[in-house]
Amino acid sequence: MQADDYQDSLKRSLDKKATPWKSGVPQKEPMTNCQSCGSSILDRNNWGTRKDGRLSETYCIFCYRNGIFTEPKLTMEEMGWRIHRLLVQQGNMNAREAASAIDRILPVLARWREGSET
Ligand SMILES: [Zn+2]
Repeated sequence: MQADDYQDSLKRSLDKKATPWKSGVPQKEPMTNCQSCGSSILDRNNWGTRKDGRLSETYCIFCYRNGIFTEPKLTMEEMGWRIHRLLVQQGNMNAREAASAIDRILPVLARWREGSET
């Protein structure tokens, strides 16, 4: 994962009204957000890729490449802490607001919903 790119992606996510990060509720069309980290995907180039090279349209390029998660062992909790750190660093939210948003958003994303690794 390229941390700078990822952070940019999350920042764009925060800048957009429609994303769950700002409102604290999942948006109506969840497939515009990565179903692993929740960042919004505005540019098709930021979608992940399937094994056959087609775009995944489910996960972003930072989470999913060539049909596999870039960090397959990552847990929802670890993802939460990672995003939490980014959100607080950016100064968009204080620690409690960020934790609260993450608690609401991450569990509804496809990667974490079933409690499965795939
Ligand atoms: Zn992602």
